[in-house]
Amino acid sequence: MEIKKVLVLGAGTMGNGIAHVCAQAGLEVLLKDISDEFVQRGISAIEKNLGRMVKKEKITENDKQAALGRIKAVTTYDGAEDAQLMVEAVNENIELKKKVFKDCDAVMPADAILATNTSSQSITQVAAATGRPDRVIGMHFFNPVPMMKLIEIIRGYDTSDETYKTIEALSVKLGKTPIEINDFPGFATSRLIMIMINEAVFALWEGVGDAESIDTGMKLGMNHPMGPLTLADFIGLDVCLNVMERLTTGYGDPKYRPCPLLKKMVDAGHLGRKSGRGFYTYDN
Ligand code: NAD
Repeated sequence: MEIKKVLVLGAGTMGNGIAHVCAQAGLEVLLKDISDEFVQRGISAIEKNLGRMVKKEKITENDKQAALGRIKAVTTYDGAEDAQLMVEAVNENIELKKKVFKDCDAVMPADAILATNTSSQSITQVAAATGRPDRVIGMHFFNPVPMMKLIEIIRGYDTSDETYKTIEALSVKLGKTPIEINDFPGFATSRLIMIMINEAVFALWEGVGDAESIDTGMKLGMNHPMGPLTLADFIGLDVCLNVMERLTTGYGDPKYRPCPLLKKMVDAGHLGRKSGRGFYTYDN
């Protein structure tokens, strides 16, 4: 099946990025959020990001206008009845995700594929909320979507080979490099990065070194673009704790236990950049 029209749910950080790359690749896009204000905010972000690409001479003004012309802002499911794909990028809440999957299952064609951009929830659980678990899949994009090359394509328990192949081909068309991943807590990328961050917090807690020494070690010794504690401050310590807790319950293995220092900092409200203080302090 060729994907020509896509419904993107959620016009926030990830949703507007996904709509941007789909429209740029020539797809017709419906961008849906819960209010006109939120969808328009998403469209403005896309306009700004496309404008930046024009300035850098990566695309022309005509390309920008053509991409914008392919995106329709909506607050209902009108128009979704002939879309071949839905990509969900609503808030990271399993009940909300199950609800919108159920809604899409009811209004979209029986052969349409329903995808989620979740970074930590189970693909298999959202698939089970629909009557087409073979046509449900994870499309895990990275932020900022127009810049980041990777897409983790995650197979739920019942995802068919046909669904996987269709999404793999689309990902390449969107200019992304796909990796094939099975549905386990943390997938591949979140699991590995969070283990490193959690271990860095343990090293700090145990007095192996101070935050700057640990970060500099990984930056200069391992060629990482930023140290793990700086990265944790960027992601948000609450998000890091949440993923570690999901890994702990998902695998039942004590090797994933979150460091007590991480828990204590979240309890104290020191969440990283967004709260002005984490492993470092920020002038917000
Ligand atoms: P966000 O808060 O920026 O955007 C979420 C949007 O969904 C909001 O605009 C909200 O109004 C909208 N929404 C809520 N209910 C809706 C509904 N019923 N229908 C349509 N829209 C609805 O969140 P985000 O950072 O874009 O994250 C979205 C998803 O992407 C989450 O599952 C998150 O885990 C995942 N993700 C985020 C990142 C990241 O770096 N931000 C990276 C990869 C994956």
